[in-house]
Amino acid sequence: MANPDGSESTPAFDTSQPTIARVYDALLGGKDNFAADREGAATYLKFVPDAGRCAIDNRAALVRGVQYLVRDAGIDQFLDIGSGLPTQKNTHQAAQEINPDARVVYVDVDPIVLAHGRALLATNDSTIVVTADLRKPQEILDHPEIKDHLDWDRPIALMIVGIHMHFHDDEKPDEWVRTLMDKLAPGSYLFITDFVDTGEPLQKAMEQAGLESLGNGWIRTPERIEQHFLGLPLIPPGLDFLERWNPADPDGDVPDVDELQPYQRILMAGIAKKA
Ligand code: SAM
Repeated sequence: MANPDGSESTPAFDTSQPTIARVYDALLGGKDNFAADREGAATYLKFVPDAGRCAIDNRAALVRGVQYLVRDAGIDQFLDIGSGLPTQKNTHQAAQEINPDARVVYVDVDPIVLAHGRALLATNDSTIVVTADLRKPQEILDHPEIKDHLDWDRPIALMIVGIHMHFHDDEKPDEWVRTLMDKLAPGSYLFITDFVDTGEPLQKAMEQAGLESLGNGWIRTPERIEQHFLGLPLIPPGLDFLERWNPADPDGDVPDVDELQPYQRILMAGIAKKA
């Protein structure tokens, strides 16, 4: 609902059911969650005792990716979809500590993200939070605040970090992302992390935890995750497990895959560039 000044009101939220954003917040040790969300997080921990560390590692990869995009790729605009509740270091903080002029749009379907994001961003003119749905990419592109906040003639980094697992392939999530990428200028980037399936029991356990607590959270083969990048070339080191993935130092020493803990083989990250 829009206020007279054009801003959105904060809708009331149902606390009786867990939401993805709040369960993730609980796994990260945050405070913006309710009993149903903590139960959801407990289900994750029952199946994957290190699920909280997976979430922390995913946030660390998000920060590494943003730092690479600002420092090495010269990106100063971010469209971060499924941004989640504010946590320790968020996209705008990671970006603006390198380039204070970096502009960020946070989009999340869960209205609690808008409520808490606004408080965090009250003093930051370069960053906005909008409630919108990745399933409706054209509404994101047509949203007046989003349209105005970014310069669409220049490269933008589209972040779809830690969301694909919440959509079944039957929903064709790649098509929503394609609609967004098609609108971005040459030189734009696509940054994705997702749950992976290389045949390991703990990966399957992560999927079971998601299905039991949230009704979603599917794992995918690396080949299928590569398809999320829509045929755009991946920058080095390509798609890899979070612990081995550092685009700022793709040739640096990394542990062998079999040296990783099983929980460190649950998520993969990658960034692709639009020519
Ligand atoms: N991107 C953050 C990260 O990686 O740390 C948060 C990831 S969290 C696991 C997934 C987020 O995607 C949640 O905040 C959830 O509300 C959001 N989300 C789920 N479905 C969405 C949709 N259809 N449109 C936009 N956001 C969505």
